[in-house]
Amino acid sequence: MKDSLQFRIMLAFSLVILVTIGAVFFFFDHAARTKIHSFEESVEYKLKARVASGLSRYYRAQGSWEGVQPLIEQLGTASERRIILVDNEKIVVADSQGDLLGKPYESDSPGMILQSPGKRGPLAMLYIGEAKSASLYILYKAMGHFLILGACVAIAIALIITFFLSSRISTPICALTKTARKLGQGDFSQRVQVGDKTEVGELGMAFNSMAGDLEKGERLRRNMVADVAHELRTPLSNVRGYLEAIREGVVKPDVAAIRSLEEETTLLSRLVDDLQDLSLAEAGKLKLICQTEDVAELVNRTVAAMQAQATAKEVSLSTDLPQGLPLVNIDSHRISQVLRNLLENALAHTAKGDAINVAAAQQGDWVEISVADTGEGIPPGDLPNIFERFYRVDKSRARATGGSGLGLTIAKHLVESHGGKIEAQGKSGEGSRFSFTLPVA
Ligand code: ADP
Repeated sequence: MKDSLQFRIMLAFSLVILVTIGAVFFFFDHAARTKIHSFEESVEYKLKARVASGLSRYYRAQGSWEGVQPLIEQLGTASERRIILVDNEKIVVADSQGDLLGKPYESDSPGMILQSPGKRGPLAMLYIGEAKSASLYILYKAMGHFLILGACVAIAIALIITFFLSSRISTPICALTKTARKLGQGDFSQRVQVGDKTEVGELGMAFNSMAGDLEKGERLRRNMVADVAHELRTPLSNVRGYLEAIREGVVKPDVAAIRSLEEETTLLSRLVDDLQDLSLAEAGKLKLICQTEDVAELVNRTVAAMQAQATAKEVSLSTDLPQGLPLVNIDSHRISQVLRNLLENALAHTAKGDAINVAAAQQGDWVEISVADTGEGIPPGDLPNIFERFYRVDKSRARATGGSGLGLTIAKHLVESHGGKIEAQGKSGEGSRFSFTLPVA
């Protein structure tokens, strides 16, 4: 509990509330006391001045203090204070309460000296007592109790609000922690509920998208393992079948049998090579040694290497390369691997009398290379999938051509790692056209 986020948030909020209320109280108290003090001082001053001037006027009119007692009583009642007038012999000549009349009077509190403009020396001493009714201080203290009560209510309300606020913040974080733990234990289907669009909500969304990526990655990994096992099984069982047949004397270990075995192992080693390329490409770890290359030269070189196969199959293989193509920035070994793969596919899916044409053209900052054939084409339903690994339009026939089903997947990765795009077009029976772009140097 002590280490929980909710507890810490509540503690922080409570401290802020207490400090704020304490500061407000301190400054309010200080300001109120100063104001009350100066207000009472000014009231006191005005009162004393009024009493003194009234008495001075009386003395001027009468010439003595005789008969002043009713005036003092009147002034005492009006001001709610005790007023004592003492003559120069320190005898009380008037007392608003009457009990000190005629008696000698000595006081520790400083009195006021009454003087008359015409007369030399003091006329009398005036003593004005404290106000009988409640002073503003008493009123302020009473108000203080209400203020403290109000502060307590405010603190209680603030704490309740803080509790709900902090639980709103900490609940999704706790849910996130729980989900992350489950994800860590291998349950990739776990997601968190994204509430609002605050930072916590965004964290939840980012977490869900990460979980989605992890789930997809895990699914791809599983599929990959299943696909690889599936692809390995056929050539391996073929090899085993041959070897068993030879052992049991059903098949003679002649040149034909050995050639079949060799074909199966070639297929296997090609599959292993392609898998290695694919895993490097998928991990983004394929090293590209890029330099400026002449596209026309690269195309001519690759086409020349395939010419013999095309001639043997009676398929015409031509190029269409305009003059002045710009240089491209590529890893020539990898791009000729892509082109070779497209040409091998074109040869595998064309028949006697068909034609294959390799063309190149500049398109802005890119050079597009295309391989078009007049072969069997690709059904529209299969077009979106042919770049997926192990995808074959005609499973049985593709195996006969010796393809691993990874050629186009690797080609796509290689082109994309150069920043380009690869596309396929075509219809069943109308031939196909593969094109990819390369960045101009
Ligand atoms: P494979 O090793 O089987 O050739 P690829 O990834 O290179 O694998 O190609 C995937 C599939 O796309 C092939 O099995 C084939 O069905 C189809 N394909 C590729 N190129 C062509 C083409 N030029 N004409 C018709 N189909 C093609």
